[in-house]
Amino acid sequence: MKELVIGMGVAVMLFLGFLGVNVLPLFFLVGLGVALWLMMDRKSTVMTATREAPVRHQVSFEQIGGQEHAKRELREALDFLRYRERIKSLGIRPLKGILLTGPPGTGKTLMAKAAATYTDSVFLSASGSEFVEMYVGVGAQRVRDLFRKARALAKKESKDSAIIFIDEIDVVGGKRGQFSHQEYDQTLNQLLTEMDGMSTTHTPMVLVMAATNRPDILDSALLRPGRFDRQIKVDLPDKEGRLHILKIQTDGKPVHSSVDLEHIARETFGFSGAQLESLVNEAAIIALRQDKKEVTQEMFRDAVDKVLMGEKTGRRPTDEELQRVAVHELGHAIVSELMRPGTVSHITISPRGNALGFVRQIPESDKYLYTLDYLKQQINVALAGALAEELHYGNRSTGAQNDFVQASSLARTMVKCGLSRIGIVDEEHLPETVLDTEVRYILSEQEKETREVLTPYKDDIANFADHVVEEESVGGQEFRTWLEGVIKPELSLPAPNVELGGAQISASV
Ligand code: ADP
Ligand code: MG
Ligand code: ZN
Repeated sequence: MKELVIGMGVAVMLFLGFLGVNVLPLFFLVGLGVALWLMMDRKSTVMTATREAPVRHQVSFEQIGGQEHAKRELREALDFLRYRERIKSLGIRPLKGILLTGPPGTGKTLMAKAAATYTDSVFLSASGSEFVEMYVGVGAQRVRDLFRKARALAKKESKDSAIIFIDEIDVVGGKRGQFSHQEYDQTLNQLLTEMDGMSTTHTPMVLVMAATNRPDILDSALLRPGRFDRQIKVDLPDKEGRLHILKIQTDGKPVHSSVDLEHIARETFGFSGAQLESLVNEAAIIALRQDKKEVTQEMFRDAVDKVLMGEKTGRRPTDEELQRVAVHELGHAIVSELMRPGTVSHITISPRGNALGFVRQIPESDKYLYTLDYLKQQINVALAGALAEELHYGNRSTGAQNDFVQASSLARTMVKCGLSRIGIVDEEHLPETVLDTEVRYILSEQEKETREVLTPYKDDIANFADHVVEEESVGGQEFRTWLEGVIKPELSLPAPNVELGGAQISASV
C-alpha cells in the first residue's frame, strides 16, 4: 500500500515535470508529508508494542490497590450515573459532586479516572491552583470554560456524561472571605453557580469530582446538598492494601521468584500508593544499575531505604566516624530487639539523606493505637544510640539530635494522652511549663532504664561494631543470630502492660 502510493506520487510528479510545471516546491511538500507520515507510523508501532490496551489509556478500578471501602462507596455513588433512568423514575435527586478526601498519593486521581471509565464518561481535570490568578475574574472564567469544554467534549465523543475532576479544591474552596482575596471568592462562587445550574435531565450530564487533603477548611457551601454531598475517604493503605498495590505495581515486571511482597508490605507501614509505586520503580533502577535482569528482595530493601531516607550521599565519613556510627546504631538495634524481638530489619552505616546510618525497624503489625509500654519502648530505642556512644566512648556526639527530637515527641504524646505521672490532662489548657517538666521527667526515667538494659552489652557492642563497619549493612537475621549468642539472661525489664489490651509485648528473647 505504502509503496503503491509513493510510486504513484513519483509518477504524477514526473508527468507534471514532463508538462513543464515547476515541481520543486511540490516535491518538497510531498517529501515532508511522507517523512511525517513515516514518523507517525513508527511512533504508533512503538506504542502498540509496549501496551496492548486500546489507544486511549484508561484506568479501571482493578488497577487501584486496596481502598476497598472507598472503591465500593464510589461505585455505589456512580450507579446514579449508570442507572439514570431508574433514578429518575424513583424521583431521586441525582448526584452532582463527589469529594475525595485523604493524604497525597493515595490514589484520588486514579479513582476519578476509574470513575470516568466505569461510567463511560469523558474525563477532564484541573487543579485548584490553576484557577488562582493575580487578576480578578480569570479564575471564574476558567471555571466556566472548564464546564463548557466538558460538555463539548462529551458531545464530540458522543458520550452521555462527563466527569470533571478538580484536584486540590481547597485552594479555591477554602472558606470565603478568609484570605481577603476576592479572586478566590469569585472562583468559588462561579463553581457553585455552575454546579447549581447543572441540569441533571440534560445530556450530557456532568459530575464534578474533587480531591483535597484538607476537608476541614472547605467552605461549608461546597458541602451542601446538591453540591459535594458525597464525601469519600481515601486513606493510607493498610497492610493488605499495600500488598495489593505492590502486586499491581510489580505486575509484568521481572521480579525474582524469591521476592516476598508480603514482607515488603509489612515493612512499609505508612507508605502511600504513590510511595509504593516509587519504591517499585527505585528497585528496578537499582537492578538496572547493577546490570541485573531481575529485581531481588535486597533491591527492594534498598529501595525502601531510599524512599524513606533519601538517596545515598557521596559523603564519606572518616574511619573513626564510621566506628562511632556503628556503635550508635548497634545501641538502637539491641534495644529494639530486646524490647520487641524480630523488629530489626537491618542496620546500615552508609550515609543516606541526612543520616549517617540507621536501623530500620519492622512493625509487627500496622498500628493505630499505642500503649504506654509501646511508647516507652520506642523512647528507649531512640535514646539507645546516644547511650551506646556514651558507654563505649564515655561521651556523646551530635549524631543523636534527631533521635532526641523523636523521643521528645513520643514523650509529649504520652503526656497529652494522659499516660504520664500527672494523669488525665486537657491538652488545650496544659501549661507549657508543666508539659516541659513532664517530658523531661519521662526522658530521664527512660534514659536510666535504657542505660541499664544496654550496659551489659558494652563489650559485645565494641566487638560487633567492627563487623558492622566492615560489612556496611547487616541484615536483621544475622544480627539476631549474633545477639542470641551474647544474650544476657538477667534482664530487669518492666513487665508488659496488659491493662490497655494493646499489642502483647514479650520482654525476653
Ligand atoms: P492522589 O491523587 O491521591 O495524590 P494519585 O492518584 O495521583 O494520588 O496517585 C499517584 C500514583 O501513585 C498513581 O499514578 C499510582 O501509580 C500510584 N498509586 C497511588 N495509589 C494507588 C493505589 N491505591 N493503587 C495503585 N497505585 C496507586
Ligand atoms: Mg493526585
Ligand atoms: Zn540514632
